[in-house]
Amino acid sequence: MYLFQQASSLGRTLQAARQNQLTLGFVPTMGALHEGHLDLIRAAKKHYNRVICSIFVNPTQFNDPADLAKYPRTIEKDLEALACSGADYVYFPEVSDVYPPNSSPETYQFGALESVLEGAHRPGHFEGVGMVVARLLRITEPHGLFLGEKDYQQCMVLKSLLKQMQWDTKVQLHICPTRRESNGLAMSSRNQRLSAAGKRHAALLFEIMNSCKDRYQEFSPDQLSDWAIHSLEAQGNIRVEYFSFADATHLQAVQNWNESASVRVLVAAWVEDVRLIDNALLF
Ligand code: AMP
Repeated sequence: MYLFQQASSLGRTLQAARQNQLTLGFVPTMGALHEGHLDLIRAAKKHYNRVICSIFVNPTQFNDPADLAKYPRTIEKDLEALACSGADYVYFPEVSDVYPPNSSPETYQFGALESVLEGAHRPGHFEGVGMVVARLLRITEPHGLFLGEKDYQQCMVLKSLLKQMQWDTKVQLHICPTRRESNGLAMSSRNQRLSAAGKRHAALLFEIMNSCKDRYQEFSPDQLSDWAIHSLEAQGNIRVEYFSFADATHLQAVQNWNESASVRVLVAAWVEDVRLIDNALLF
């Protein structure tokens, strides 16, 4: 496994690999890696000859400076885990390598997709995600991009990014299933900041999303969302930011189940002082 801190040297290495007919799978991350990330690396390794992983805590996607400062960083452990999982190239840059001081980054707009859910609660977040992923794609020019369904709205935003860059035919998008703890809690770098009790409380998110799958035919989306928020907040350990039912493609909230062919449930909630997100397919 080779470690790069500079886009220029990584770019040259990848260009040589492409010239040798090697295919490239790319997994962008912010580090503090867990089995969910490593699933993406292993999936990429199955599909492509070489796997690139980036570890970069992207400042432009954090609307809250305190959240950026608290984001866990575990680079030594991450590199060991990546080597064991089959990554070939790791890009671990400084901010100035991703955003060189004398150049302006490409920016993209995602319209209605970024005005709901995470976009509504974290203004500027998806603009920052689009900015960094566009830059990382230009550096790596992969054949495949691997994303986790855990961040479902991000997957839809980045699908739109590929289209806007006119790279949707050149880069295959692979969306991998959410890896969970045995109690159902979606793995997340942020879980490291939860206590053992917090992790137990947070598992209720998965339980309630699953209950919605059994109950949705008896209730309207608004009624079901009220019930879910009440159930989550009843013990006083969880504070819900949103609990929404949305069309699986454009992510606009549904008022009736028959408005959409496929609906997802998406939730953001606070446990202790950690903000968690999760989602699941309803139908
Ligand atoms: P992050 O480091 O949180 O930015 O995540 C990097 C990539 O890993 C994103 O595509 C995430 O959606 C994905 N990811 C994060 N957590 C999980 C999980 N529990 N299961 C599957 N993929 C995940």
